[in-house]
Amino acid sequence: MLKQMSTSTFFCAKRAYSNAVGKINARKYVLTKYFQGEPKKSDFKIVEEELPEIKDGEILTEAEYLSVDPYMRAYMIGYKLPTDMIGGQVAKIIASRNDQYPVGKYVAGSFGWRTHTICNPKSSPYLGFMPITLLPDMSPHPISLGLGVIGMPGNTAYFGVKEILYPKAGETIAITGAAGAVGSHVGQIGKILGCRVIGFAGTDEKCEYLQELGFDHAFNYKTANIKTALREGAPNRIDCYFDNVGGEISSTIMGHMNKYGRVAVCGSISSYNDTALPKVTILQPSIVFKELKVEGFLVNRWLDRWDEGIKVNMNWLQEGKIKYQEKVYNGFDNMVEALVGILRGENTGKAVVKVK
Ligand code: NDP
Repeated sequence: MLKQMSTSTFFCAKRAYSNAVGKINARKYVLTKYFQGEPKKSDFKIVEEELPEIKDGEILTEAEYLSVDPYMRAYMIGYKLPTDMIGGQVAKIIASRNDQYPVGKYVAGSFGWRTHTICNPKSSPYLGFMPITLLPDMSPHPISLGLGVIGMPGNTAYFGVKEILYPKAGETIAITGAAGAVGSHVGQIGKILGCRVIGFAGTDEKCEYLQELGFDHAFNYKTANIKTALREGAPNRIDCYFDNVGGEISSTIMGHMNKYGRVAVCGSISSYNDTALPKVTILQPSIVFKELKVEGFLVNRWLDRWDEGIKVNMNWLQEGKIKYQEKVYNGFDNMVEALVGILRGENTGKAVVKVK
């Protein structure tokens, strides 16, 4: 909500603010109850907060796209309530007292589920999962890719493949959660590197999409027999497994790996909404006898190399080597529906919420 500035304030703030704005009321989600099963609207309240004037070095941003990601379901248990909801967003700079971040440019940052944010990219560059990133010009692609291919999921795929799986051309990579933001990107990197890629996703339509992306085989894990699928899709067994889901399918895939195989444990979405943790087939015999290397990782391990991932993914995007789909939800008031939507598998590719 914009308020008119007085004429005198306007003149003294003109140089620093360019498109100067008056006091802003931000809207934000505050989590007041821990999730039980699926997240619910009643777990949150939406609060208005008047923002102060920005100081030297700071920028004021207005959110255009907010991200909904599986980690949001898993992480909130670690916060003391009430707490502001976490999350990434792509936001337009609407006032600036920082020459490197001019008005009109876009940034991606972990600002949370809120409409407006004041931050100092230099003194607090790392909030949450990603640094405040000045986004490159992405036209003709939408700026929302700053939350997907050219953002945190893209970097998760890039560093997870490069640093944890380090596949060689000709090797076979298996991916679960394959049609999602991270999984669909991992598979395409696998193809760029000359690997055979097989993916598991939750609908036949998603599997068709994966084949359009160049996956060699895609299986609907809800209807396929996983062992049969692995024999068909990976006759030479699996060398690298990018695990987005955990659970029994992961135990089965790890039982079908080659000696010295690598496993990148990225997430375990199959149990995020469960109130009791599942019991799955023991993994240690596969790990020991196949001498597997199993490594969990968080993408913020590579904050100091963030721009490398952005640049490589941007080049691949421009060369047409990485394709994407987005599931766009609409409206700041529909954040919870969007979060529940991805946990139910409504999305192919990255899910984002267009704020207005
Ligand atoms: P996705 O875009 O893949 O969205 C979530 C998808 O998970 C859904 O579309 C759904 O697809 C699938 N899913 C839901 N329930 C289940 C289930 N019971 N079993 C199997 N699949 C299920 O999300 P992201 O790409 O953003 O994230 C993928 C994974 O990577 C998550 O586990 C996330 O926590 C993790 N992650 C980890 C990071 C790290 O730093 N370690 C960073 C970013 C993400 P379907 O229809 O196929 O079931």
